[in-house]
Amino acid sequence: MARNELLRVRSALLAWYAAEHRDFPWRGTSDPYSVLVSEVMLQQTQASRVAERFPRFLDRFPTVEALAAASDTAVLAEWSGLGYNRRAVALHRAARTIAADGWPRDVARLERLPGIGPYTARAIASLAFGQPVGVVDTNVRRWLLRRFAVDDRPPVLQQLADTFAAPGSDGTAAAWTHATMEFGARICSQRTPSCRSCPIASGCPSRLTATPVRVPRQAPFSGSVRAARGKLLRELAAAPAYRLSLDNAHRLLDGTLEATVAALEHDGLLHRCGDSLVLGGG
Ligand code: SF4
Repeated sequence: MARNELLRVRSALLAWYAAEHRDFPWRGTSDPYSVLVSEVMLQQTQASRVAERFPRFLDRFPTVEALAAASDTAVLAEWSGLGYNRRAVALHRAARTIAADGWPRDVARLERLPGIGPYTARAIASLAFGQPVGVVDTNVRRWLLRRFAVDDRPPVLQQLADTFAAPGSDGTAAAWTHATMEFGARICSQRTPSCRSCPIASGCPSRLTATPVRVPRQAPFSGSVRAARGKLLRELAAAPAYRLSLDNAHRLLDGTLEATVAALEHDGLLHRCGDSLVLGGG
């Protein structure tokens, strides 16, 4: 891509973001701990839900040291209702690593933290440490595919995202990361892209003809093992002393209890104590 075209697209999206972005509690901060918590929450939870729970989590655990010092049980109880509870266990372990060793600032070392994959490492590197690295989430993938008609392969998309992010070494790395995700969520959306108000419509091969971009399907939630896990963990988080008798747990899950408990024990989300189940790895 010609550099002029690249800079034109960047400048249009940065201007659009500055004028149109939604205010969320995690926007406008470069505090690494706030960025880490928000990015882990946003991995699999809707932004509107995270907006409710993120401030409460930071009130409860205001620093990475406070999170590192908390018990498994306290962290899981605070996470209850956000879903995908293994994220809380990984976040807790990451906080302990950071509290002991300090913050990794580049993508390669961020990726070594528990629960941090390539996308989250790049988001933290750009949002907290100003590194000009590209992020490819569902929203970014969609608009890159439509706007540039490139192959739908992760290395191709990552390289394109990195090319767009590179000029961010001038101090706009964080704004670019926010802009690139917000644009996909708000304008080049999955079902009804707003091509008529799109700031980069000129030259787009998908303008007014874009169809939904295929996304990998998740297993249905209702009736699944994930639903049983969520049900038991919510009950434990609400129980006195985060403890539930096995009899009550049987009444809750009946035939699926043993398999559910075994899976949750394996993930460090609960442990057995006598004839009870207790939230956390113990
Ligand atoms: S013109 Fe339409 S399809 Fe193309 S990038 Fe803009 S919103 Fe997406």
